[in-house]
Amino acid sequence: MNTERRLERADDSMIERKIAQFKNACQARGVKLTHQRLVIFRELAASSDHPNAERVYESVRKQIPTISLDTVYRTLALLADMGLIVAIGAPRERVRFDATVDIHHHFICSSCGSATDVHWPEFQRLTLPAESQSAGKVESVRVEFRGVCASCMQNKQRQAEPKQPGEAD
Ligand SMILES: [Zn+2]
Ligand SMILES: [Zn+2]
Repeated sequence: MNTERRLERADDSMIERKIAQFKNACQARGVKLTHQRLVIFRELAASSDHPNAERVYESVRKQIPTISLDTVYRTLALLADMGLIVAIGAPRERVRFDATVDIHHHFICSSCGSATDVHWPEFQRLTLPAESQSAGKVESVRVEFRGVCASCMQNKQRQAEPKQPGEAD
């Protein structure tokens, strides 16, 4: 089944705000603001679907055909170091990147690997368990919801339709 995965676009004022933050952070840390870095960051700021490095590379290549995947990886690592993007997902899986660094959580689809933002303000007010505090200084807590996303559920249902009820998969 063809699951079309176009980058979802964030709204323009939000993108411009993130880019302004990016420029300030570069200046503050003495990081050179190159065209490549700007294009890569803009691509992430404009997408709300947590792309992985390969997908960022595919989009950026349309604007900078000579860019290498390695440059994209190194730039993403730099942006993460600067706190401008967050890497999400388990390290063994393909890491995805998020230009929204405000506290939020993610629903990760175990079928297609997509990541969807989940906001949970009540969660931020919970008291940390003692065990986490004795383990070290907690800097942030993110919840990872795991399951099958709505579109994968729909695809599964659609595939199941012609079958008779009760028939095994
Ligand atoms: Zn899915
Ligand atoms: Zn997110």
